[in-house]
Order: sequence, then structure tokens, then C-alpha cells
Amino acid sequence: MSELIYKSTRNKAETATASQAILKGLANQGGLFVPDEIPALDVSLEDLAKMDYRGVAYEVLKLMLTDFTEEELKYCIDHAYDSKFDTTEIAPLVKKAGAYYLELFHGKTIAFKDMALSILPYLLTTSARKNHMDKEIVILTATSGDTGKAALAGFADVPGTRIVVFYPKNGVSPIQEKQMVTQAGDNTRVIGIHGNFDDAQTGVKKMFSDPELAKELADAGFQFSSANSINIGRLVPQMAYYVYAYTRLMNQGVIKAGDPMNVVVPTGNFGNILAAYYAKLMGLPIAKLVCASNENKVLFDFFETGVYDRKREFILTSSPSMDILISSNLERLIYRICGNDAEKNSAFMNALSGDGVYTIDADMKKELADFYGNYATEAEVASKIKEVYEAEGYIMDTHTAVAACVFDKYKSATGDATPTVIASTASPYKFTRSVMDAIDTKYDSLGDFELVDELTKLSGVPVPGAIEEIRTAPVRHDIVCEKDEMEAEVKRFLGI
Ligand SMILES: *Cc1c(COP(=O)(O)O)cnc(C)c1O
Repeated sequence: MSELIYKSTRNKAETATASQAILKGLANQGGLFVPDEIPALDVSLEDLAKMDYRGVAYEVLKLMLTDFTEEELKYCIDHAYDSKFDTTEIAPLVKKAGAYYLELFHGKTIAFKDMALSILPYLLTTSARKNHMDKEIVILTATSGDTGKAALAGFADVPGTRIVVFYPKNGVSPIQEKQMVTQAGDNTRVIGIHGNFDDAQTGVKKMFSDPELAKELADAGFQFSSANSINIGRLVPQMAYYVYAYTRLMNQGVIKAGDPMNVVVPTGNFGNILAAYYAKLMGLPIAKLVCASNENKVLFDFFETGVYDRKREFILTSSPSMDILISSNLERLIYRICGNDAEKNSAFMNALSGDGVYTIDADMKKELADFYGNYATEAEVASKIKEVYEAEGYIMDTHTAVAACVFDKYKSATGDATPTVIASTASPYKFTRSVMDAIDTKYDSLGDFELVDELTKLSGVPVPGAIEEIRTAPVRHDIVCEKDEMEAEVKRFLGI
């Protein structure tokens, strides 16, 4: 098989193998690594339908990570998708209220970030070995709440790595914060910042693209890498569950091989939906990619008008993991629809960081025909949670509810009856207060863990281990800093 090359979205001369791209995380000048082409699936959908999650993951990963051996990939996959997940299905597909919910929250930290972050440490340490890396890898991560914990859980005590997580001090749910600040592991550091997610992400990207800082780190024996979805090692494992979902729809007798399927993805940084798009380019029969936003509806406006405009108020919602105005992975789509033109893409991205806005042309907009964008208000999200609970006894989290609302809007706008998979991105236990409040305001007066017990009573779903373990866990991280102190905090942690 020929080697798949990754290119930077901002410089056509910068190329990397898959393992080099994973190691580096981000390309130079703030660019993102993208596959030069997307290889076609070389196993039939019928055969994939007979495989379990690990089998499907292997068939996808082997096409995208061509410089890994079969043995290496199977080692990574087997160690990632094991009993850390509370179901052997890994990502169950359940039918509720006219849609198929792909439950991506059965991993260690009960959000979909586990799907990629349980394998990323294995991919990264394997990449380090393959490339004869002699430095300690420092994972720098900005989180809107879920990536942080999933990355910490994946990298804690992994030899040869350290991990620093920055989160918006007042922009995550109480359970999300507790999960992060109780993290054990000598190689971990969790830092709250006075700012929002975009500030955290911008600060991290700045450290990545600072050549002087890179030199200082290298002299001290360190190299940065990323656990955010700007790392291609996050996106590729996420492609696998769309193939898995499609083939489970086949197994459930809903579709035959080749029939179309739509997906609805609650979107923030555009990583999850981009993985679905890549799966489509790989040959998976996905018809529409429905991009669901919360009240931070910058992507909805973009799909409507072709204008990406981040100059607007940042709204704190009940779906904090989607409270984002600069969706990093959209850059990978922009690069593609402007003809894989790094110069043109750079001009858009420079406009975004300078003026805060860019406008794509009509030809580019035509390339977006497979996408549909819409958004849900806070009130719509709450009533959706209540409605599906009352009709089905099924309790979904706030992010998934954004997607469910947008699915309704899509159906009434188009009348499209194609079988549809909704990416269910978090357990309701992670957003207990918002979820219980949506069902009945009488829960307002209860404490966070009392709410957890009430949620169990209503849903009949046992309290996940991820929640039990933080009930009594001691707080280990209490640093809070300003956005311009992020670099100093990283250096302090590394002792340089
Ligand atoms: C991260 C996250 C999202 C958004 O996913 P992106 O890949 O950033 O678009 C949605 N829901 C939950 C629960 C998340 O943790």
C-alpha cells in the first residue's frame, strides 16, 4: 500500500507521515495537518457489518495511518477499546423517538472525547518510538470541559509524557471541573484561566507556533504535542464510529449496504463532524451532514451566508463543550473546498485572526452542499430533554439535545426521511444540573451529587464509575491564572 502523506493547511511545502503529524500535533505557522487524499474503504460494508468495534476501527485506521504496522495498530486498538468502556459494543446505537442515538459516552470519562483519547496516548507513544524521539512529550491542551478530563485520563502516568490542561475557570459544568481538578498522576497539571475556551485555545496555539519557546523546550529535553482535535490523531479514530454506526444500522435491518444515512452532530470545534465528512469521503454512504450549534451559532450563520464572523458575544450555555466561536477544524474543510490551496486558506485564516471575519466565494459555498446547519436555543434544548424523557424514559445530555432539536428543524425544513444517526456526545451524568432542571425546576435546590442520585432514580441508568470516583476524591489542582500567564505556568510546571 502506498504511503499516505499529510500536508499543512498553511504551507504546501510542509509534509509529514501520519506518525510525524501525530507527534507534532500542529504544523508550523499554525497550520493543521490534513491527509493529501482520503483512501477508499477496501473492505465491503457487508464484511464490516460482521466485525466488532475493534475490527472496524482497524479497517479505518490502517487506511489513514499507513506508516504504522498492522501489529502496532492492533496493539493501540486493543489497549484503547477494552474494559475501560462499560459495554463491549463500545458505541451502542439505540433507537429512541424516531432517531438512532450513537452513544459515544461509554468510556472512562463519559464523553465522546474518550473515543479518540483512549487511543491517542498509544498512537503518540508508538509514533515517538517509530521516529526515535529522545524528548519528553508535553501535551498542551485547551478544553471546553470534556477533552481535558479525557486527555488527563489517557495520559496520566504514561511514561515519557506530561500533560497540561487549560480550562475556562467559569465556563465548565461543576461535574466537569471536579473531574479535572481531582486528577491524579505526577505528570498532570490542570489550570483554570480567567477567560473563555477561545482564549485558552488561542493561548495554546500561540505556544505551539513560538519557535523560541520550542527551542527553549528542546534544550531542556521537551517537545510539545496536542491532544486537541487539531491533532490528526484525534480525528482519525473518530471516523471509525461512523462506519460502525452505519454497519449497525445494516445489522438492525434499517438499511442495506449502499443506502444513504444522515448524521447529526452537536458541534463546537468541528472535529466530530469533520470526522464524519472524512468517513463519507472514504466511501461511507452518508448523505447529509447536519451541523448542530447552540446559541453560539457562528457555524449556522456560516453555512447560511458563507461569512464566518467571530465578532459577537460569547454566550455561556448549558452545553459548554460547544461554547466556541473559533471552530478550529473548520480550517480543514476550508482548505479542502478552496482546492487544497494553502495560500488561499492562509489568507482566510489570517483574516479571521486579524479582522475576525472572512467570506468564502460562491464556488466554495457550492462545495458545502452536503452540509446543513442550524441551532437550538436554551429553551428548546430544555424542552427537548423533557419531551424525550416523558415519551421514552430516555434522558439525554444537553449537547445531544442540541442535536435532537436541530434534527427536528432539519426534518421540517426538508421532509427528508433518510435514517438518521445522532451523535450522542455525553452522558447526562456529566451535566446533571442542567438536565434535571430541564425535567423539573423542583430539583433546583439539590446539591450536585444529590442530583446524581435523582437522575439514577428517573432514568434507571446506574451511576457511572466516572461519577462515583469523584464524589469523595480530593482536589489536587487549584491553580488559576490570567490568559497572558499561560506560558509562564507551563514553564513552571516543567521547571524551566
Ligand atoms: C467536544 C464536545 C462537542 C463538540 O465536538 P467538536 O468535535 O468540538 O465539534 C460536543 N459535545 C460534547 C459533549 C463534547 O464534549
